[in-house]
Amino acid sequence: MQPNQGILLVISGPSGVGKGTICSRLLQKLTDIQFSISVTTRDPRVGEQEGVNYYFVSEEEFMRMRANDELLEWAEVFGNFYGTPRYAVQAALDAGKDVLLEIDIQGAMQVKASFPECVTIFVWPPTVDELERRIRQRGTETPEAIERRLRKSKLEMAHVVNYDYVVVNHPGQVDAAVGEVEAILVAEKAKVARRLSQLQAILKEV
Ligand code: 5GP
Repeated sequence: MQPNQGILLVISGPSGVGKGTICSRLLQKLTDIQFSISVTTRDPRVGEQEGVNYYFVSEEEFMRMRANDELLEWAEVFGNFYGTPRYAVQAALDAGKDVLLEIDIQGAMQVKASFPECVTIFVWPPTVDELERRIRQRGTETPEAIERRLRKSKLEMAHVVNYDYVVVNHPGQVDAAVGEVEAILVAEKAKVARRLSQLQAILKEV
């Protein structure tokens, strides 16, 4: 762990759990954290902007980046590729900024393997019924796609054991979930292991 490095915060959770809302609230509240904009081969959805939500790239460009080791992690989700550009994350961390990754479980495990000091949070639904209701109410997908998403979400929940923290997103209480994520960040920053070189420098003088 390098001194003064920012914290790499990784947030995942099953589809429909509301992790996107938690992340955007967190970014509104905390000015000192940088959102990592992923590259994806999927088409933009209505309202999504290039360079804000994602960098939308061709499959060819994605494969080029992957082959050049420009991606910190990558995954294929529902037939589309997603990846985290390595350079922007490293530059922000080296500048002492915290970085937020909102990525899937496969990606989160890759990040944990290459950055063991990262902090992983799994957003958990209040109940499975509530998760199902949220996925169904999206209404933007075919019934088959909804069933596929539901099955995947339930399978994904088993991966919670591989995360450092779990935050339950209760209906209508997103601020409480955001507060828990902030508390985790505060506690992580206070860890002796993260401040060791700073503390040792002071200890030498006493
Ligand atoms: P969506 O297409 O709904 O924006 O995202 C689908 C899934 O891909 C979500 O679980 C989201 O967290 C995940 N995702 C978004 N960006 C990345 C990324 O850079 N890497 C990985 N591994 N997953 C990502």
